[in-house]
Amino acid sequence: MPKPTALVVSAHSADFVWRAGGAIALHAEAGTEVTVVCLSYGERGESAKLWRRPGMTLEQVKTDRRREAEAAAQALGVADIQFWDLGDYPLALGQDALFRLAGVYRALRPGFVLTHSRQDPYNHDHPAASDLAQHARIVAQAHGHEPGQRVLGAPPVFLFEPHQPEQCQWTPDVLLDITAVWERKRAAIECMAGQEHLWEYYTRVGLQRGVQAARNSDRAITYAEAYEAVFPHVVARLA
Ligand SMILES: [Zn+2]
Repeated sequence: MPKPTALVVSAHSADFVWRAGGAIALHAEAGTEVTVVCLSYGERGESAKLWRRPGMTLEQVKTDRRREAEAAAQALGVADIQFWDLGDYPLALGQDALFRLAGVYRALRPGFVLTHSRQDPYNHDHPAASDLAQHARIVAQAHGHEPGQRVLGAPPVFLFEPHQPEQCQWTPDVLLDITAVWERKRAAIECMAGQEHLWEYYTRVGLQRGVQAARNSDRAITYAEAYEAVFPHVVARLA
């Protein structure tokens, strides 16, 4: 039996840590092989602290960001992290990236997919990454795309929490208990030295969502991550 797999499509090289680190660690611990595709390093738009160092260059920022993301991926138990280096602010996505990602879907056959919200007025790369992730999934399902290959099924897509949910028209309908792997997520967060100002912020987000997850269940939950499901949940029973 091949191992179960999951795909995370991250616009920049740190997004998967803040927004989906708990889900990644939780499933990796349970034996899922998680692939993370970082479309860019976030070298221009999400590396303010690195740019304050004297003599910084774009290449050096990319190198540092890659090192941080690789360390975070290791802390979370990611099986494969890919850096596509497509640039940020703006993220340059064309048909090559679309077909490349469709190929990843077909090769991996993920059990679920995590990516960004559909909207984000503070960051145009995030919705672009979400659109690419969702579009590539549909291309991979198309029988006329690379005929002869096995087409993709229907992996559920969950949109992870944007920085300011209300402005992004993002409404969580899935709360994932990540209490058991919180220490791993926090360790991964602390790998992101270039964005230290977000460490405590995303710890608070985890606690807030934990309270909500406990309120919506009868379980003792301290930390949670929130997601918005793109497609209906298909279940065999309601309880
Ligand atoms: Zn980002």
